[in-house]
Amino acid sequence: MTIDQQMFEELTRAAPIPYPWDPVEYVNRVAEHRGRPIVLCPIDPQALAGTGCGTGSGLWIAREHDDVVMYGGATESHAYHIIAHEIGHMLLGHDQAATGSIEATDALPLHDLMPSLSTESIRSVLRRQDYSTDRERDAETFADLLMVHAMLPQRTPSRIRSTFFRSRHR
Ligand SMILES: [Zn+2]
Repeated sequence: MTIDQQMFEELTRAAPIPYPWDPVEYVNRVAEHRGRPIVLCPIDPQALAGTGCGTGSGLWIAREHDDVVMYGGATESHAYHIIAHEIGHMLLGHDQAATGSIEATDALPLHDLMPSLSTESIRSVLRRQDYSTDRERDAETFADLLMVHAMLPQRTPSRIRSTFFRSRHR
């Protein structure tokens, strides 16, 4: 199943994009929609040695009761893009049948990156190699679409609002 405009709209109805764009607020809305908290953790862009998502610096750690998104963007907009990519994996349900395992907790310096991270509750660590090429591409498409929509200067007024105005001015 490839992500298209219709699917993107459904996903952004479930967790609406805030305007003006606010990545923390958006992530909170996604967390609310999924019923699980999402913890954002900025890391050094080189910390995952290129094994993370996209250009190599994003990581989704699924824990028993929450999800951690590590992101290492060199610029603010790159950081947003990485977060959007990981959110794409979440909203598209890509942890299902992904091969991510807790063995990665030994291979990656997770504790150094986030000292408060208790490794025993980790369910899976999802790196680029843990997704199929299709899923990686879909998460990237979702991130591209989200960033385009998030940066739009003005939203189209909602249908309810325009109907309201039309009936009032009749
Ligand atoms: Zn990815």
